[in-house]
Amino acid sequence: MTYPSFKRYVIVKNLKNLKNLKNLLIMMSLSLIVSCVQLPKTEPETVPKIGVEGQFEKVKANHIALRQFIQAMPKGGDLHNHLSGAVYAESWIRWAEEDGMCLNSKILAIQYPDADGCGDMATMQSALKDNQKLRNELIEKLSLRDYVPHTGWSGHDQFFDTFMSMAAMPIRFGDMIADAANLAGRQNIEYLELMHTQALFGTILPMVGGMTMTGDSETDYKALMDSKFGSALPTIVAEAKLEIDQAMARKNELLKCGTDRAEPGCKVKVRFLSQNVRTLPPSAVFAHAIFSWHLMKKDSRVVGTNLVAPEDDYIALRDYKQHMAQLNYLYKTLGEWNVALHAGELWLGLVHPKELRFHITEAVMIANAKRIGHGTDIVFETDYKSLLKYMKEQGIAVEISLTSSDIILGIKGAKHPITVYRDAGIPITLSTDDEGVSRIDLSYEYVRAIQEFDLSYSDIKDISYNGLKYAFLPEPEKAVMLKSLDKRFLEFENRF
Ligand SMILES: [Zn+2]
Repeated sequence: MTYPSFKRYVIVKNLKNLKNLKNLLIMMSLSLIVSCVQLPKTEPETVPKIGVEGQFEKVKANHIALRQFIQAMPKGGDLHNHLSGAVYAESWIRWAEEDGMCLNSKILAIQYPDADGCGDMATMQSALKDNQKLRNELIEKLSLRDYVPHTGWSGHDQFFDTFMSMAAMPIRFGDMIADAANLAGRQNIEYLELMHTQALFGTILPMVGGMTMTGDSETDYKALMDSKFGSALPTIVAEAKLEIDQAMARKNELLKCGTDRAEPGCKVKVRFLSQNVRTLPPSAVFAHAIFSWHLMKKDSRVVGTNLVAPEDDYIALRDYKQHMAQLNYLYKTLGEWNVALHAGELWLGLVHPKELRFHITEAVMIANAKRIGHGTDIVFETDYKSLLKYMKEQGIAVEISLTSSDIILGIKGAKHPITVYRDAGIPITLSTDDEGVSRIDLSYEYVRAIQEFDLSYSDIKDISYNGLKYAFLPEPEKAVMLKSLDKRFLEFENRF
């Protein structure tokens, strides 16, 4: 190529480039016009969820379909479950009929026979024979079935009154565990921490109920341990341990565990919380707490302790601070064993406002509670934001029982503080509280939480894991169970 021809080539190429540039500009203008005129401005499309999350979203609004999904989904554990409240009325009635128990027809309650039998009362069997009406009335007395709140008799009254009508022979301890475990096994629940009261009404209360406490925990501890309670304590603990041995053996026998006909409850790990009653005299509450500490040391199946009965009761309110101080003393002197506490199961109007300001605070800061049951009145606590911060830092979980709070306190939906806890980063567990009395189960509570608070699959999966993460199991045992839960979730999620 000569220079002139090169020059001509450059000129022609530049002209061509100019022409190309012109074409390009025309095309750009056209495409700009087309995009401005013809294409509507659209939001970026959300990617539809697939797999298990897609299935969850598909069924979320449909109660029946969501129930099926949740029942099949693995659930870590139910950490707030009172054994006597877990039993359905039909079981209480059947056991009473089989065991020769009596019916007090004046107050509609199952009662124990004395040495002469039922005396003026009819036996349960004779009273209920061919009497469906009476059977129905008894079921309704022992539960919330068909209950409608009315003047002078609230859901709170009906709820706690049911426990006054229940009674069963000691051997039924194992039957009760079998009932609760089977119900859990059928819903793919891995673990139960059952609250149960031992050695209190027939043993510790008669021994110490008349003793006066000074309010100083050290002095009162010494007085109790110097009394006949102190000398009987090793025997009381040994008997309680034996009761658990027998009950677990009966549960295994009833559920045919270890055979090829094993029922679903066999695969559920069961542990206990020693359940103390806060409406008794301070001497009995303290003595039972001492017993609980010794039982936890002696029996690894008893993994913690809890204080129960209506928190708004006169004595429970009067002695609240004393109970917290007693638990603090035992934690410091007898060892740092696990404490979970019903705290803040209150609401404005149920009690004087001053009672709403400190229960959760003292439960976690003085009694060293590692989990809080209900915690409904959290926003009424003095400086509740600092309290939430403390709970988050300490990894203190809250056991939420939606149906129970609805029935007992009338708190549900926007009034329930579940969102306050979640926003503060507090771990949540869902629990039944008293599934037999409320006639629900844990799957029902999951469904309720999802629909009432618009939870996602990821939220509910976290809640399921929390049922094990915040269990009072020793860490190595917990790690094994968490691995098993991973595996079960993998299997469940692979179905979709
Ligand atoms: Zn409870």
